[in-house]
Amino acid sequence: MHLTNTLDFAQKQDAQDPLRHYRDQFLFPQHQNRPVLYFCGNSLGLQPKTVRPALLAELDQWATYGVEGHFRGAMPWMYYHKFLTEQTARLVGAQNHEVVVMNTLTVNLHLMMVSFYRPTRERYKIIMEAGAFPSDQYALETQVRWHGFDPAEAIVEVAPRPGEDTLRTEDIISIIEKEGAKTALVLFGGVNYYTGQFYDLAAITQAAHRTGAYAGFDLAHAAGNLPLRLHDWGADFAVWCSYKYLNSGPGGPSGAFVHERHADNPDLPRFAGWWGHDESERFKMRKGFRPMRGAEGWQLSNAQIFSFAAHKASLDVFDAAGMEALRAKSLQLTAYLEFILDEANRKQQRFRIITPRDPDTRGCQISALTGDDGKALYDFLTENGVIADWREPNVIRLAPVPLYNSFEDVWRLGEWLTRF
Ligand SMILES: *Cc1c(COP(=O)(O)O)cnc(C)c1O
Repeated sequence: MHLTNTLDFAQKQDAQDPLRHYRDQFLFPQHQNRPVLYFCGNSLGLQPKTVRPALLAELDQWATYGVEGHFRGAMPWMYYHKFLTEQTARLVGAQNHEVVVMNTLTVNLHLMMVSFYRPTRERYKIIMEAGAFPSDQYALETQVRWHGFDPAEAIVEVAPRPGEDTLRTEDIISIIEKEGAKTALVLFGGVNYYTGQFYDLAAITQAAHRTGAYAGFDLAHAAGNLPLRLHDWGADFAVWCSYKYLNSGPGGPSGAFVHERHADNPDLPRFAGWWGHDESERFKMRKGFRPMRGAEGWQLSNAQIFSFAAHKASLDVFDAAGMEALRAKSLQLTAYLEFILDEANRKQQRFRIITPRDPDTRGCQISALTGDDGKALYDFLTENGVIADWREPNVIRLAPVPLYNSFEDVWRLGEWLTRF
C-alpha cells in the first residue's frame, strides 16, 4: 500500500479499520482536554471501561455473601482461575490444561525454573538473550547461584553481531548447538523489551530440544501483541504478565504455560501450595502433595480475585476482537509508524530505528535510538501530551496498540516529532 504523510490519509485508514470501535472501550488520560497520544501500551495498557464494573461486581459479591462468595454468585471465587482458562489458552495457542493464571510474572519465572532448571555437573548452563529485562537477569542469576554455580560461567548470553542491533536466528541456533551438551535450559523473551525483536520461538525450541535442554519463554512483550502457538511450537514452559498489552491494570496477574508433555508427571520437582493440590481433596487438609494435572498443578495460593476480575474483563475484549484481526491491523499500524518515523528523519537524522524492519520479526513496538538530544526530545513529547517511553541510556520506545490506537494518533505523533 502507498503510505502518505497527511491527516487525510490517516483518517481514511481509520474509517476503513474494522476494529476502530474498540478505541471507545478504553479510558484515555487527558492532556489539555484532549486524549493523550498514548504509545505506552507495551508498558501499561489503558483501562478498558468494563474493568470498573467488573471490580464493583466482586466488591458486591463480597458484601452480599461474605465467605459464601467462594461458592455462590455468578463467578464463585473457589473456581475463579478456571474462568480465565479458555481465553488464556486461545491467547497463547495452548490447550486448556496447559495454562493457568496465577501470581505475578517474576514469581512464575522462578516457579518454572524450580521445575525446569535442574542443573547437574555436566548440564548446568542457561542460554539467554543479552540485554534481557533486568528482572529476568536477576531471576536467572540468583537461580544459578542457588544451585551453587557461578553465573559468569553458567549463563551464556547471545548478543548481536558488532554493528547490528538485533539477534540473528542462525547465531542463536549455533550457540545452542555449540553449548548444547552443557545446557540445561534455553530461556528467551518472546519479544525483546528494548529492541522489539520477536524471536523465532519454534526454531529456538527445536534447537534446545535437539541438544537435550528445556526451552522456556518470557512472553511479557508478546502476549496480546502477536498470535502465539505455544503448544505447536513445543515450548516446555512460558510465563507472561497481563498489565502490558493485556490491559489488566498495574501489577496485574501473570499467566503460565506448561506443555502437556509434562502434564502427567507429578514427580517433576516443584514448589507447591494448596491451590495446586488435587482439588477433589484440597479441603481434606491431609498430608502428602498430589498436584493437579497440567499447569494448575503449579498454583500456590487461592486466586487474587480483584486483579483476576480486571484481567477477565480485559480478556473479554481480546476475545471479541480476535488476535488474528488485531495482528492484521497491527501490521498496518506499525508499518505506518515506521513510515512516519522515517519521514521525521528525512530532513535531519534525529534517531535510528533499531527494531527489525521485517514485520515478521517484530510486534507493534518500534524503538528509536536517539542522539544526544534524545532525552530532550522525549521530554518535549511528554509536555505536549505524547506518552512514549524512555529507556536508558538513549532509546524511545513507541507502541501503537491495535485495540485503541489510531492512524491519526501516529500521524499526530509525526507532527510533534517534526516540531521539536
Ligand atoms: C515487564 C517485564 C517484567 C516485569 O516483571 P513483574 O514480575 O511483572 O514485575 C519481567 N520480565 C520482562 C521480560 C518484562 O517485560
